[in-house]
Amino acid sequence: MYYYKNNFEYNKVSKMHQKLNIYLAGPRGFCAGVDRAIEMVKEALRKYGKPVYVRHEIVHNKFVVENLKSQGAIFVEELDEIKDKSRPVIFSAHGVPKKVPKEALKLNLIYYDATCPLVSKIHKEVENFDKKNLPVILIGHRNHPEVIGTMGQTNSEIFLVEKEADVKKLPLNVNDQIAYVTQTTLSVDDTKGIIKEIKKHFPNIIEPKKNDICYATTNRQEAVKKIANQCDYFLVIGASNSSNSLRLVEVAKKYGSKKAILVEDVDSINLNIFQESKNIGITASASSPEILVTKLINNLKNNFEIIVNEEHYEKEDVYFKIPQKLKV
Ligand code: SF4
Repeated sequence: MYYYKNNFEYNKVSKMHQKLNIYLAGPRGFCAGVDRAIEMVKEALRKYGKPVYVRHEIVHNKFVVENLKSQGAIFVEELDEIKDKSRPVIFSAHGVPKKVPKEALKLNLIYYDATCPLVSKIHKEVENFDKKNLPVILIGHRNHPEVIGTMGQTNSEIFLVEKEADVKKLPLNVNDQIAYVTQTTLSVDDTKGIIKEIKKHFPNIIEPKKNDICYATTNRQEAVKKIANQCDYFLVIGASNSSNSLRLVEVAKKYGSKKAILVEDVDSINLNIFQESKNIGITASASSPEILVTKLINNLKNNFEIIVNEEHYEKEDVYFKIPQKLKV
């Protein structure tokens, strides 16, 4: 489905007298897993009062983290940093290795797991392959928390592949039965190439039943692909430690935008970069709230004459419930 909509008013008051066409990608911004994780922290604050601990940034976005801090959340990287062990702790949306809930039990902590259900699905796959004694290849980015969490679902070795060239170097027999899974927030295009290489190298490879790259990652990348070649500059609102944000910048460049950058702070964007530009693409990563898109557009509106064209690649209606036991 692909339709065109223009739902922003033409701005007649211009300060720079320069016209900008804004191409706004849709869908963009929060996905169902991010929504659920943030809601879980808020619900924990309602249920238990302040403070509530959160292990790792609940989602990779400074605005979200600062907002939750102001409501009483305390962010830690490891459970032993929790000063008051009587307070609850929430695990982030990226997922955690199995040893983390075990440690929480040992420390007698009240804990809630905000791992996105689509990441939990991959954890289950790894567990099942492990039960069948199948070696597992994980396509993903080293040191990303989701990858650390997925690798920590088994005591057996998981073989990490970051790029096509890694496949040939794997210490596995080409005729072995092997399974693979992927991180949820990868580049759809790059991953296709790596999977092709894996299949070529290991003819007996077992694939996941359903693509592990999640719906939100796929839709946000497809939405950018549809408009990138109309753009001189593509602005991706997101964080530098967010995999899905970085992939959107790559996709915008690859699909024709002359330039593409990550915008971590919408208030301090240098407007001079648009001097040579007429057509600006805008999207927001799955962990960036819509309020940042509005702020950015208002910032541009205050300085240029703008026309906003909003394009929708796909309508999303995915929703994940928060655990019943957390409800007030
Ligand atoms: S990006 Fe995908 S896997 Fe990650 S939290 Fe969102 S829906 Fe879940």
